[in-house]
Amino acid sequence: MTRVFHRSVHHTPPIVDRGEGCYLFDQQGNRYIDACSSVVVSCLGHNHPAVIEAIRKQSQNVSFAHTSFFTSESLERLAVKLNELAPDPLGYSCMVSGGSEAVESALKMARQYYVERGQTEKKYFISRNQSYHGYTMGALSIGGHEPRRKTYHPMLIPVHHIETCYPYRHKLDTETEEQYSLRAANELEKKLLEVGPENIMAFTAETIVGATAGVLVPTRGYFKRIREICTEYDILLILDEVMCGSGRSGTFFAFSQEDVVPDIVTISKALGGGYQPIGAAICSEEIYAAAQTGSGVLHGGHTFMGHTLATSAANAVLETIEKENLLENVQNQGAKLIGLLRDRLEDNPNVGDIRGRGLFVGIEFVADKQTKEPLDSSTNFHQVLKRATLRNGLLLYPADATIDGHRGHHILIAPPYIVNEDIVGDIVELLVQSINESIREAKV
Ligand code: PMP
Repeated sequence: MTRVFHRSVHHTPPIVDRGEGCYLFDQQGNRYIDACSSVVVSCLGHNHPAVIEAIRKQSQNVSFAHTSFFTSESLERLAVKLNELAPDPLGYSCMVSGGSEAVESALKMARQYYVERGQTEKKYFISRNQSYHGYTMGALSIGGHEPRRKTYHPMLIPVHHIETCYPYRHKLDTETEEQYSLRAANELEKKLLEVGPENIMAFTAETIVGATAGVLVPTRGYFKRIREICTEYDILLILDEVMCGSGRSGTFFAFSQEDVVPDIVTISKALGGGYQPIGAAICSEEIYAAAQTGSGVLHGGHTFMGHTLATSAANAVLETIEKENLLENVQNQGAKLIGLLRDRLEDNPNVGDIRGRGLFVGIEFVADKQTKEPLDSSTNFHQVLKRATLRNGLLLYPADATIDGHRGHHILIAPPYIVNEDIVGDIVELLVQSINESIREAKV
């Protein structure tokens, strides 16, 4: 009997016992390869001594002091580090407790920026279908994933949505990648002209779409055109890198590979590596300057913002990523992972697309490779696959509603940055076995 209101009221998951590198163990003694870093969080794997030591040391001094009274060395250090990592003009960070809070902070920063400048009519966001930005009401409103939004529809703030950049489904055979990028990005301009740029604060997007659509890597030139449009019409570009950022794609920020810089970027998950809950909204000098010359404050605050233990853990995570040269490992192991998956699965009639960047990989499943017809929803393929992976000692992140909030199935693969070639090999073997078992079980 549990007293926890679990994610499913029909199922209490096994009790986790301990973690060790890329592995988690439950109290029954089962070992799992954490091939998804839980939910794209545990970048250093589990029980990394450097982070444990940093948390121990910090908690011996002080664990928490409210930011209305104090700043802390660890908070200041983290902000300086993020400023070093982020290209100009990104420069100032607001540290919060998770991804949704980071996104909420970004949305509020955008509104504050225009209020400080006297452009109070700017009140709407434009975002994309099939995106996920968090479960708090603002973040859910800009999100575009129907299954997560439907219960709350009457409570969501009005947001305008455009189609996402999804080449596997939306690029025409007659188009080049660049032509598709332009067509997809120009939807933003169309929407802006429809709603009136004077009413719009920002365009928000995940640089690489994660949870909802199974790793949608933007096509070449897409974000460059998006950036141009945002600048031309005086709206901010907010990139949500809660999942794809902090090194997951092989560079600290995923946008660096798109050759653009947003006005605000959000990060979380791998920033604390699961050792502490933490997120950050990092804004441009100009946004900060507007508050400096305007009201002089950051509107909106949270009790645990800038939390001393959380920021000390994040500092240790970032130092470890650098010291152990993990971004290079993300690139190398990521290439191996994708290569192996393609070798083993490309001919599978139910594998439609294998895509990804760095150690952030998705597989989309189909009923027919030629027509790209998705699997029937009634197969519940994602659930069958999750059971199979668990049975085979693998933690991964399968989901449905990939294509449009209703149809489609995919799986996310995102091992810790410390993964090695042997473990990548094991992940692929166990995944191939799980997919084959699931195809048989679900009778797809
Ligand atoms: N943005 C993105 C892109 C995410 O993937 C998530 C979580 N999956 C969030 C925001 C919300 O983060 P959290 O669950 O920590 O509130």
